[in-house]
Amino acid sequence: MNKNDIIIIHGTNYKEMAIQVLEQADVAGAIGDTEKSVALKPNLVVAAHPSGGATTHSELLAGVIEYLQSHGFFNLSIMEGSWVGDVTTSAFSAAGYGEISRKYHVPLIDLQKDSYTPHEAKGMKINLCDKAAAVDYMINMPVLKGHCQTTVTCALKNNKGIIPNVEKRKFHTMGLHKPIAHLNVIAPNDFILVDNICGDLDFEEGGNPVTMNRVLGFRDPVLCDSYVCDCMGYSVDDVPYIRLAEQLGVGSTDTAHANFIYLNEDQAGRGRFKMTRRVQNLAKYADPKDACSACYGSLIYALDRLNDSGSLKKGLPPICIGQGYKGQTGEIGVGQCTCGCSKFLKGCPPKAVDIAAFLKENWI
Ligand code: SF4
Repeated sequence: MNKNDIIIIHGTNYKEMAIQVLEQADVAGAIGDTEKSVALKPNLVVAAHPSGGATTHSELLAGVIEYLQSHGFFNLSIMEGSWVGDVTTSAFSAAGYGEISRKYHVPLIDLQKDSYTPHEAKGMKINLCDKAAAVDYMINMPVLKGHCQTTVTCALKNNKGIIPNVEKRKFHTMGLHKPIAHLNVIAPNDFILVDNICGDLDFEEGGNPVTMNRVLGFRDPVLCDSYVCDCMGYSVDDVPYIRLAEQLGVGSTDTAHANFIYLNEDQAGRGRFKMTRRVQNLAKYADPKDACSACYGSLIYALDRLNDSGSLKKGLPPICIGQGYKGQTGEIGVGQCTCGCSKFLKGCPPKAVDIAAFLKENWI
């Protein structure tokens, strides 16, 4: 797998999707020696079930472990340190990781209890948890979601889980962006498997999940977070730590030259949309007919951006979206299926950043 590759798979069999992404990326070949230690680093910022949009689905961990064990890797662990206000062991239980640990005989490591050592990170000393620093190959497994302070959170910020609580507090006093960028100079980002199943609209602790039913694979954490901005309707410049990380040599923000590898096509009706009141309020601007999860989810993120800028108002024509519009006419549509509409945005699915720009120009 090349550093500019982005692997995308849709569906609801999350375990199998994780396996397919790792197969495509040839993670086993990249690790090499089966004696090497491999760690899975999910996002368990809080003690909450993944359906709430904050934490990594246990099915993805099951898929990664089955893939690794089938290729002869048994020196595995799952490691995480929750945020300062929560206890990691409670987070392991809430997300169903105890069952995964028992089933596959993979230990859970609470990094809040680990020792730590300062490391030089291009002009900044940062304490890293010793067990995380000692791993031969790290699989970063963030959730693609919003964040109230940093706008988005995914691969780069997920590495806050491998620093001790004392360092996390220091990061907050420094305004998060600069230390997160420097942390990623030393954080092990060997492979990134993104849980884009139902990440939250704008809070890292969840509460307003947006169903996307996707899993993504990256080698470059900067490219990952840049693509996340596209997916949520933001510009990379809205999230300062992404550009800072690029300037420090961590990776590239150039999504325009990324190589997209689609392992399948999205299909309508593969997953039900569970919407909170807040998501429902955005969804009422759309008139979906058999919309695929990623298409509809991208529209929700785009509508949220328009809501942020105060652009949403009553009386707007409903936005057509979904496979039910194939061969139909309409006023305004999003996605290739709505090409019969007077105005429509191509793409299958289009990205939220493009949807927001299109609607701004043609709808509000
Ligand atoms: S354009 Fe149509 S087929 Fe493509 S993702 Fe959207 S709804 Fe699905």
